[in-house]
Amino acid sequence: MKIAVLAGGIGGARFLRGVRAACPGDDITAVVNTGDDVTLHGLRICPDLDSVMYTLAGVHDGERGWGRKGETWRIKEELTVYGAEPTWFQLGDLDIATHLVRTRMLDAGFSLSDVTAALCERWQPGVSLVPMSDDRCETHVIVHLEGARRAIHFQEWWVKHRAGLPAEAFVQVGLDEAAPAPAALAAISAADVVLVAPSNPVVSIGTILGVAGIRDAVVTAAAPVVGVSPIVAGAPVRGMADACLPVIGVDVSAEGVGRHYGARSAGGLLDGWLIHDTDSATVPGVDVRAIPLMMTDDDDAAAMVRVALEIADALA
Ligand code: GDP
Ligand code: CA
Repeated sequence: MKIAVLAGGIGGARFLRGVRAACPGDDITAVVNTGDDVTLHGLRICPDLDSVMYTLAGVHDGERGWGRKGETWRIKEELTVYGAEPTWFQLGDLDIATHLVRTRMLDAGFSLSDVTAALCERWQPGVSLVPMSDDRCETHVIVHLEGARRAIHFQEWWVKHRAGLPAEAFVQVGLDEAAPAPAALAAISAADVVLVAPSNPVVSIGTILGVAGIRDAVVTAAAPVVGVSPIVAGAPVRGMADACLPVIGVDVSAEGVGRHYGARSAGGLLDGWLIHDTDSATVPGVDVRAIPLMMTDDDDAAAMVRVALEIADALA
């Protein structure tokens, strides 16, 4: 079976471990958000691709939620002593090696898809990781800061300001010109099922869908599309998605996100929508199922995936 998964960082990564566990031997492709990408200290950093790669390889720091397990911070300490800005973005020594390899390959002319495949040669994630696009596209946040209206990089808003500065809008700089990565469109078109991970609906899934052709590929895919709610009991399970959804006028609830994605029969994304067992939601035209959605381990995530596949099977 061919499975395509739209994924952001941590929610995507945990869900993908479940897909891999539930579907051994199947051909799984993750189409990953790159709108969070940023260049700092001359290094090209792809937070969501790295979260997914490290988590699937089992070398992630599960407690911190990002980066490598057993990380050390000697380079960051040196940069701080130099007063090298920005000091608010943590870069671990092990992680920096990944960014060095990536930056060097990009500078040599390789595409981000090629670079990601090369990094995965080492980590063997068991899932094909594909950036949504090989073109640069970076999410910015419109805020009021120091008496003026400014666009700051998503990472500055998320990491430095902990999503605490009221956001007026999200603007994906470069998105209009970004072409989908060839393998991303191919995976969606060839899939037997498309899954939308419980990732941030605005700055992860929303950004992926904004790449020309990707939303259309999902809406018109021959395969059923089943999504999983990242919102449980009116709040994100982890992270600050509740600071993002109201900005685009979406209610912070499983129903709000389900309706925002919408039914494929009405030009939206979904055939099926999984919500947590204590939630309820009505999404016209979508098969909504309430099941446990807390991914504390791979078994929990795999159980979610099995239900998603049952729904897809019934619809196929
Ligand atoms: P990021 O790029 O690291 O922010 O990660 P994603 O966009 O992939 O995912 C963030 C979302 O994952 C948040 O909105 C969380 O609510 C969601 N999430 C994290 N853990 C869980 C979980 O165990 N269950 C569900 N349903 N959602 C989760
Ligand atoms: Ca992210």
